[in-house]
Amino acid sequence: MSTIPFLILCFIASYVEMPTWTRIVLIVLGLALVIVSGSFCIKIETEAGKYECKYCGHHYIPKYSNVYFAMHLGRTRYMACPKCHKKSWQKKIA
Ligand SMILES: [Zn+2]
Repeated sequence: MSTIPFLILCFIASYVEMPTWTRIVLIVLGLALVIVSGSFCIKIETEAGKYECKYCGHHYIPKYSNVYFAMHLGRTRYMACPKCHKKSWQKKIA
C-alpha cells in the first residue's frame, strides 16, 4: 500500500516544477511512509506463526529486531536459533 504513494511522490518530485527543498521533502516523506508501513508488516510477520531451526528442529517466535535485520528470501530468514545458536535459513511454519 505504501509503495504506490511513494512512487507518486517521487514522480511529482521528479517532473513537477518546484524548488529543490520541496523535492527533498517529498522524497523523504515517501521514504518515511515506506519505512513505517514496512515496520508494521515485519511486526505482523514476526508474530504470525513460528520459525523452525534447520539443525535442531526447534520451533520459536524470534525477537522483532532479529526478524527486522535478517536477510530473507520470501518468508525464509537467515537467523540464529535461540536453542542451538547455529545460524541457518529458517523457514516459517504455520
Ligand atoms: Zn537450533
